[in-house]
Amino acid sequence: MMKALIFSMCAAGLVFGSLFSDDSSEKAQEKMIIILLGPPGSGKGTQAKKVAGELGIPHISTGDLFRENLKQGTDLGKRVKEFLDSGRLVPDAIVVDMLEDRVSKPDCLKGYVLDGFPRSIPQAEALDRLLASTGSYKVINLQVADQTIIERIEGRESCPSCGAVYNKYSSPSKKGALCEKCGTELVQRSDDKKEVVEERLRQYYSQTEPLIGFYEKKGKLVHIDGREDPQIVFKEIMQAISEKK
Ligand code: AMP
Repeated sequence: MMKALIFSMCAAGLVFGSLFSDDSSEKAQEKMIIILLGPPGSGKGTQAKKVAGELGIPHISTGDLFRENLKQGTDLGKRVKEFLDSGRLVPDAIVVDMLEDRVSKPDCLKGYVLDGFPRSIPQAEALDRLLASTGSYKVINLQVADQTIIERIEGRESCPSCGAVYNKYSSPSKKGALCEKCGTELVQRSDDKKEVVEERLRQYYSQTEPLIGFYEKKGKLVHIDGREDPQIVFKEIMQAISEKK
């Protein structure tokens, strides 16, 4: 039993030790920072949750943080409402401030998985400045065609209580219109309506897609086919994370 425990601790150490080692710094091994890129509906949220759970670090979704602020009626929520309702991106300064505040919390000391941030070159540059003293990171780009995206988003349903996400076509809740984990009635996100989705895709191609080149040049990017079964995508992400780059 003890041997097995020691073995798995060593194995985990090997994997994590090699995660971000650009050889250069010890600090680089201290934090695990994973960035998930991809268009809306590419499965970023689902995968980010699983990866964070597997690595034991927080999943930080800027979209979730904004929606939480909207729900609570905070000042920040009021400032960002029009952007979320229309599918446009929230101005960089607001997002960067919120992100900096979130990642300074003690639960982020060992690292975090970013979902929906960065979404523009200025945000990526701000993140680089923020991480300059922290170490390295790895970027996973989930590739999915537009048609698949629209079908996925149109079928997406989530639980307003526990945050579980389903798709009425590909991965429905076993309890129908209710969350199979907590029994709450499932809802469709208001920005998952067709017109808003189209605007979100436009924003993605004009502002976010350029990040692929940005991270490719830095040698940080791994492309993963996001059309596969979520379990296979997850395995491929974990494999990419454990590989030294
Ligand atoms: P998401 O849940 O990631 O699809 O985000 C929902 C909405 O929140 C987006 O359509 C934007 O209006 C806003 N948002 C989330 N993250 C960002 C970000 N990094 N930069 C700008 N706006 C964002």
